[in-house]
Amino acid sequence: MNDCIFCKIIAGEIPSAKVYEDDEILIFKDIAPIAKIHLLCVPKEHFAYLSDVTAERAALLGRTLEKIGKLRSRLGLDDGYRLVINQGENAGQTVHHLHIHILGGEPLPWGN
Ligand code: AMP
Repeated sequence: MNDCIFCKIIAGEIPSAKVYEDDEILIFKDIAPIAKIHLLCVPKEHFAYLSDVTAERAALLGRTLEKIGKLRSRLGLDDGYRLVINQGENAGQTVHHLHIHILGGEPLPWGN
């Protein structure tokens, strides 16, 4: 998508701190981390919301979760991690290209 910042990062038009890439996904460091480790895992195909998920995209997301699990040591997440997908305004979604926040590297607060 022309005006999507994550599509531009995937295309290499905007620099990013890449930590993993294959033909389906890119994982890079969040520019404004909220945890010691804060990565973004982005499918290369542009779609914004879980409500846009088709059977093919559901399979892609399943493979993506499997990859994150297998990459945990390489990503420094052996002590545990949290995955977050913000959806829509109330969740504070600012980039409308589906992405999974990967948080870890330290104990993560939960609730208030
Ligand atoms: P969300 O609020 O769930 O849409 O998350 C968007 C995330 O993208 C935020 O945590 C931003 O800090 C992050 N972000 C925005 N622009 C960039 C960028 N150029 N490189 C890395 N992370 C970015």
